[in-house]
Amino acid sequence: MNTPKPRVRFAPSPTGYLHIGSVRTTIFNYLFARHYGGTYLLRIEDTDLVRSRTEYTTALIRSLAWLGLSPDEEPLIQSSRMDEHMQSARDLMNTGKAYPCFCEPNDMQEKIEALDKGIGSKYPETCRYKEYSDADLLKPHAIRFKVPHTAQTISFNDMIRGKISMPMDQLDDFIIVRRDGVPTYNFAVVLDDLFMDITHVVRGEDHIPNTPKQILIYEALGKDAPDFAHIPLILGTQGNRLSKRDGSVSVEEFRDQGFLPSALFNYLVRLGWSHGDQEIFNRDELIKYFSFDSVGKKGAIFDIKKLEWLNGIYLRELTYEEFIKALKDISQYHVDRLTDVWPKEALKQLFELYKQRAKTLLEITDDLVAFSQSPDLENLEALMPWYSDKTLLLVESFLEGLDYTEFNHDALLALARDITTEAGVKLVTLAQALRFALTGGVNSPSLFELVAILGKDHTAERLQRFIQRIGQEKRIVDE
Ligand code: GLU
Repeated sequence: MNTPKPRVRFAPSPTGYLHIGSVRTTIFNYLFARHYGGTYLLRIEDTDLVRSRTEYTTALIRSLAWLGLSPDEEPLIQSSRMDEHMQSARDLMNTGKAYPCFCEPNDMQEKIEALDKGIGSKYPETCRYKEYSDADLLKPHAIRFKVPHTAQTISFNDMIRGKISMPMDQLDDFIIVRRDGVPTYNFAVVLDDLFMDITHVVRGEDHIPNTPKQILIYEALGKDAPDFAHIPLILGTQGNRLSKRDGSVSVEEFRDQGFLPSALFNYLVRLGWSHGDQEIFNRDELIKYFSFDSVGKKGAIFDIKKLEWLNGIYLRELTYEEFIKALKDISQYHVDRLTDVWPKEALKQLFELYKQRAKTLLEITDDLVAFSQSPDLENLEALMPWYSDKTLLLVESFLEGLDYTEFNHDALLALARDITTEAGVKLVTLAQALRFALTGGVNSPSLFELVAILGKDHTAERLQRFIQRIGQEKRIVDE
């Protein structure tokens, strides 16, 4: 560590919604900063004027806030510093470390020369040695960095991968300002990291090939380069870089499906980072334990099942109020779907039951909305493993019993037990029939709790519909 208090940044380009691979990089930035009591910053790299959109910037900032990853200072908007970038490019030209390049972007001559010299698509340094006047600078030109020809290789120490070297002959005099006056990523990133006093650059490993170029720019500017940590990518199940083809990739999509920010955060840290075999971490623990030493070097495979499992664990910790707030973060529409069909007290009790087995907020919401309606009882097949010729009688007895039973879990269970004992069948025979009658399926949270919350009238109505349905079915079979 070259400083006791690191300053790190996340530097997304606002050309799309926040990808979970980038989130993982951001989390590592954040945890590293917090671990050492440093500062975590945000820079919006919007100099690609064609692909950048303010709507994406707004979404990025919103997604970071949702994840509890808002920066410690106001975000820097890269395009606001284009004059300074231009000035630095001129300074480099004045000191002979950069030069104007007047070649047309697709200059045939340039390409032929490059092929003749056997350097493929590398720039053949056509303008490197040309004299130019102030008047020439009025003509369209790009500005190229003059890559020194002195060293054979360029190396840096990556905090995750150790020493990384690149032969200098892989580098050509790369462009730092394009013909349209826009600085390129490699140039602007260095200038802005210097401007923001960044001590550690933590980013995706797809940027490893850019790092040597950036180190050369630091050297040309007479500045120390920051330390670098390149985070492995998140992979899809095919071992490819996780992309749309693999399913959801943006934070917004995961939020909209009902994942909790705390679960996504925990999942993404654990993906390629470990602390013994602990799986569940609160944020303070993560800050305490985080170190790049425990970040894996290989790409990590995204596993939706594990994220769902973790989300379920976090869901069980939610209070009703937190549940409603989390749902509101997706959309007020989902809150309304619930409050339109359930009174608050019932909803609270139902939430406590349904959260025990759900994987997402939306699963709970959908199930609770469905439970507010009498089920269609179409899928009678599902009940067959528990069905017996006594089923109808058992349900009828239970229905009658409702008149003289208290509506709480224990009393309702006792009623069911009495009926099944009397009939000489297992409790499950009646329980599964009741569950099917009430929910249309054979899986649900605690049955007698549900009956108690649903109340006598609704329960009786659903049981009668079930009895009718079985009656119809019997007639079909008997005919
Ligand atoms: N804007 C670049 C990106 O989104 C930033 C890379 C970096 O952190 O240097 O990939």
